[in-house]
Amino acid sequence: MRKILIIGNWKMNLNTSEASLLVHRLAERIKIHRDIEIVLAPTMLTLQPLSLQIDRRKFRLAAQNAYHRDEGAFTGEVSFTMLRDLIHYCIIGHSERRHIFNEDLPTIRDKVSAAVRNDIIPILCVGETKTERQDGETKQVLHDQLMSGLANLTAKEVGQSVIAYEPVWAIGTGDIAPPDKAAEAVAYIRNYIRDVFGTRPAQKIRVLYGGSVTPDIVSGYLEIPGVDGFLVGGASLNYESFSGIVESARKWQRRHAEVENER
Ligand code: PEP
Repeated sequence: MRKILIIGNWKMNLNTSEASLLVHRLAERIKIHRDIEIVLAPTMLTLQPLSLQIDRRKFRLAAQNAYHRDEGAFTGEVSFTMLRDLIHYCIIGHSERRHIFNEDLPTIRDKVSAAVRNDIIPILCVGETKTERQDGETKQVLHDQLMSGLANLTAKEVGQSVIAYEPVWAIGTGDIAPPDKAAEAVAYIRNYIRDVFGTRPAQKIRVLYGGSVTPDIVSGYLEIPGVDGFLVGGASLNYESFSGIVESARKWQRRHAEVENER
């Protein structure tokens, strides 16, 4: 069974002392779980101090973004090469980067390649806007984002990556994708990986759901075949809700293991 993966995307929130306090509170509440991996994605500014503070058996770090070139005259940017000793993961292609910062498909493809080249696991975010959904274009959008985002990776590298299915209309809105729609999208993603890269990467790759996740929806979404965890935005800024999400996942996993054992 794939490990459950829960990622907290803090976006552009929390200064250094606030971030440190949140990690402290989370560490008090969250135990080490062998079968659940918890990743925190703070701002670039706080990655370094948090890397010294965190218990690495409990938490791993992700960047929210990085630049695809390794070094040079790129004012204001930070490269994957500079981050490689600090982080395990990097969020790439988040809808806020696609839509607010106009990151296009080739930019996202180059970032995914740069992450892998630097031994950082890409968390490639894919998902349709409300209009695309209403126009029946969800699968086409997922197809284009996957085809381009994974274009330079080998089958083995794809298997080690993470895809976050995040319908844009569900991010930060409180509107959660109906489970049957999320199930359809996740199945489409895994089938795409299987058809293009083969069965093994399709079985290995972790696929997350993201979009207004709260502790209440965790067990229902973990029941969806092929969902391996969550990319959490707003709820990850509050230690009670984020640790509640981890706790709900732990309870679901325990129940699931019991049911499997009885079979
Ligand atoms: C996100 O930022 O990736 C996200 C899913 O945000 P939220 O949980 O707030 O919808």
